[in-house]
Amino acid sequence: MFDLLKQACDAATKEGCQFADARYLAIRKQRVLSRDLALSSCAESDDRGFGVRVLYQGAWGFASSPTYNAKEVEKVVALAMRIARASAMALREGGVKWAPEEALKLAFKSKCDQDPFKVSLEDKADLLIASNQVMLKNKSVKRAQGYLLFKRVQRWYVNTEGAELESDVTSSESVIWAIAVGKDDFQQRNWQAPASNRGFESYRKEEFLVQAERVAAQAEEKLSAKLSPEGDFDIVTDSENLSLTIHESVGHATELDRVMGYEVSMAGSSFVTRDKIGEFQYGSDKVTLMADNTLENGLATQGFDDDGVPGQRWEIVKDGVFQTYSTGREFSHYIGEERSRGCCRADHWSSIPIVRIPNLFLMPGKEPLSPDELIADIKHGLYFEGMDSFSIDQRRLNFQFGGNGVWEIKKGKKVGMLKAALYQSRTPTFWNACDATCDKNYWEPHGVMQCGKGDPLQIAQMTHGAAPTRFRKINICRGRN
Ligand SMILES: [Zn+2]
Repeated sequence: MFDLLKQACDAATKEGCQFADARYLAIRKQRVLSRDLALSSCAESDDRGFGVRVLYQGAWGFASSPTYNAKEVEKVVALAMRIARASAMALREGGVKWAPEEALKLAFKSKCDQDPFKVSLEDKADLLIASNQVMLKNKSVKRAQGYLLFKRVQRWYVNTEGAELESDVTSSESVIWAIAVGKDDFQQRNWQAPASNRGFESYRKEEFLVQAERVAAQAEEKLSAKLSPEGDFDIVTDSENLSLTIHESVGHATELDRVMGYEVSMAGSSFVTRDKIGEFQYGSDKVTLMADNTLENGLATQGFDDDGVPGQRWEIVKDGVFQTYSTGREFSHYIGEERSRGCCRADHWSSIPIVRIPNLFLMPGKEPLSPDELIADIKHGLYFEGMDSFSIDQRRLNFQFGGNGVWEIKKGKKVGMLKAALYQSRTPTFWNACDATCDKNYWEPHGVMQCGKGDPLQIAQMTHGAAPTRFRKINICRGRN
């Protein structure tokens, strides 16, 4: 597989480029959806092709093709070079400064005990429909749905520095949900089996059935739940709920390409300017946010990025203080770092790599602390579980997040579900209001499979995580009257 990719790099070198890399990708996906007692769709795709990126006099050129032979490789390199030459004419400020990296030869394979593409469609249908059956036993539940998503990406990467890298990564995701209908209201409650770089072995039918019964009962309970109170309250977030808040208010806010203005027209910039490195109090001293592209089964763990840089682990926020960003080889010089953090990923053979959020999680508390103890210290507050609607502004500063299951806390105990609760805050205000997070026994990972960024849009995946965490005096508002 490497031969033609090397041929592409050699051809680009002869044309006078400073650097070139070539990637071949085979992407297989399967998505199975169920609705009530039937499968509603099953789609499968197998998509292969290669892309060549060249850096010429400080300017990029990129071209790609689904046809993989010597003649096509020649054509694609010539097109990438033409684009780079044209781009070089319009350069300002000397162009791309490319961070050095050791040329590695390595192969990475994610853990996958049961290849999901070898599991029969009957077994997948059985898992989903059995779960729907359990949810529909609840008389208030009028619709039960679920899906399974499997993805396998095989990748071969070569560059002009001599790197020869290959990876084989299988990812799985599943969600089931129940919709309960009442007299004048309907409510949805879901369970996300944590998405990860694992195979079908991560899904156990017994667990699906237990969760199906729970979400059906809670969808029904949400129908008669009272509307959330409004005002300042102490809140507790579970791992899944906080994962989305970490993603939006820390993950996207600390992508260095966004900070430097490369993403502004698509999804906004960031308030985390470079003068904040090592100085800015992002959160309280309980807040350490760790980036880790070596995390076992993490969705962003793929051995190396599409700049040819291996996965790394570093602190984005340490004891509350902002440390550094997620970067790629093109961006590290902007903050005086000599080496890339290895975050540049492309979602397809026809996409260019861009800086993506790494696996990023809140470190658990150092002292023993259970969720019951965490809640016991709240007189009147709210407990947020799971992901729901959210919004965040174009500087990743002002936000609001809901929860898929929200409970009222009174005198240190969860007392009943609430409807339409949202917590609203500013990123540093929120993280500085964190006064405790449970210990490592309660820490859980949660995956994001559909993170959108770039123009044209690219979809990336990464893992977040946290233990249940408490925030003091957060503004609670309602999503409806
Ligand atoms: Zn995202």
